[in-house]
Amino acid sequence: MNLENLDVNGKRVLVRVDFNVPLNNDYSISDDTRILKALPTLLYLRNQGASIILMSHLGRPQKKLNDDGSINKEKFTLKNIVAGLSERLNCPVQFSESAFGTDALEKSLALKPGEVLLLENTRFYKQEAKGDIEFASRLAALGDFYVNDAFGTAHRAHASTTTVARFFPKHRKSFGYLLHSEIESADRLLNSPKRPVIAIVGGAKVSDKIKLLERLLENVNTILIGGGMAYTFTKAQGGKIGTSLCEDDCLELSLSILKKAKANNVDIFLPQDNVCLENFEDKPGTMFPADQIPDNMMGLDIGPKTIEEFSEHILNSASILWNGPLGVFEFENYNTGTYAIAQVVADATAKGAYSLIGGGDSVSAVNKSGLADKVSHISTGGGAMLEYLEGKTLPGIKAMNE
Ligand code: AMP
Repeated sequence: MNLENLDVNGKRVLVRVDFNVPLNNDYSISDDTRILKALPTLLYLRNQGASIILMSHLGRPQKKLNDDGSINKEKFTLKNIVAGLSERLNCPVQFSESAFGTDALEKSLALKPGEVLLLENTRFYKQEAKGDIEFASRLAALGDFYVNDAFGTAHRAHASTTTVARFFPKHRKSFGYLLHSEIESADRLLNSPKRPVIAIVGGAKVSDKIKLLERLLENVNTILIGGGMAYTFTKAQGGKIGTSLCEDDCLELSLSILKKAKANNVDIFLPQDNVCLENFEDKPGTMFPADQIPDNMMGLDIGPKTIEEFSEHILNSASILWNGPLGVFEFENYNTGTYAIAQVVADATAKGAYSLIGGGDSVSAVNKSGLADKVSHISTGGGAMLEYLEGKTLPGIKAMNE
C-alpha cells in the first residue's frame, strides 16, 4: 500500500522513524540529516489531518548501561531531541516518558489532527530487540495505521520495525517516502539499470563485502575495488603489499571472484598505485605501485594513476553504485582518493548518470565532501542498504508485505 492510499484523516498514525541522530555533549542535535529525511512523510501525514505517534531508537542504551545496570536515561532519552524536532517540524512535539504504557496510550488518544507525539526510546525495553509480540501489540495499540520510514533499521527484526506490522492489515500500513525511495533506488540500480553499470566497492574488509561482490557479478558491467579490501586481491595475484590490511583466509576467495568475473564478462579493476606509510597514522606518505609496496609499509589511499583510471570508467558509466571508501578517508593525508572519486561520481551524475551511494562509510565521505546533493541517491541505511544490495530479504520490509 502506498502512503497516498491510506485514509488517515482524523486518525492516529504510528510512524517508525530513524531518529538515531548524533548528539553534542550538551545532548543537542549535532547532525539533523535523519530528521530532515523523515520530514516529507511527516508533513504529508499532518497535511492529511492525521495525528502522528513517532517511535524510534536512539543509540544502544542496552549496551551502555550505568554501573548499577540501569539505563542511562540522561544520555539516551529521546526527550533530548524534542526541541530540535519541534523546530524542524514547525509544531510543538509532545513527549511520552514511556513507549507503550498508559501514559503513551492516553496521550495518543488525546492527539488532535496534525498533532505529534514522540515516544521514549524503544531500545529502553529489552523486548524491542527480541521482537517481542506482547510489546509490539502494545505499540500497535497506539495507532490506527502503521507507517515504516526507518530504512536504517529495516534489517532488524525488532518489535517496532517488524513485529508491530503484523498487527495492521495491509490496507492499514505503508512505507514512508524515505523507505520507499531507498528501496526504489537500490532496485533501479540492480534490477533495471541503464547500462553500463559500474560498482565502486571499498572499505576495510573483503569478508564484509563478499556477498555484495557476488551479487554484483550477476548485475554490473564493471567493478572498481579500492580501500583496505583491495590488498587481499593484489596479494592473491602475487603482488607485494607490505603490511597493508590483508585477510589471508580470503586469498582463495578473491581469486575465485576474479575468475567468476571473467566468466561473467565483468571487468574488475584494482588500484595501480597507493600512498603508503610505515604506521597507521595521519602523516604524509609515499607513492608505490600497488603490487610493490615495501615490506615495512602499508597502503592507506589510492594514488593518482588509480584515480585517473577509475575516473575514466566512472565517467563512461550510466549507472553507478558506490559502497565503501577507497582509503582511510578519516585521515587528512589519506582522503584524497575517496574525495576525488566523490567528485567524479558527482560529475558523472551531472552528465546524466544515476548514482547511488549505498551504505557504509562512503555515505559519510560524500556528506563530508559536501557533494551529497550532487548524487542521485544517498542512502540513510548503512547495514540495511548493504544487506538489501546483497539480495537479502529485510524483515522490516517483508513484514509490510504480509
Ligand atoms: P567499511 O565499513 O567496510 O566500508 O570500511 C570503512 C573503513 O575502511 C574506513 O574506516 C576506512 O578507514 C577503512 N579503510 C579504507 N581504506 C583502508 C586502507 N587502505 N587501510 C585500512 N583501512 C582502510
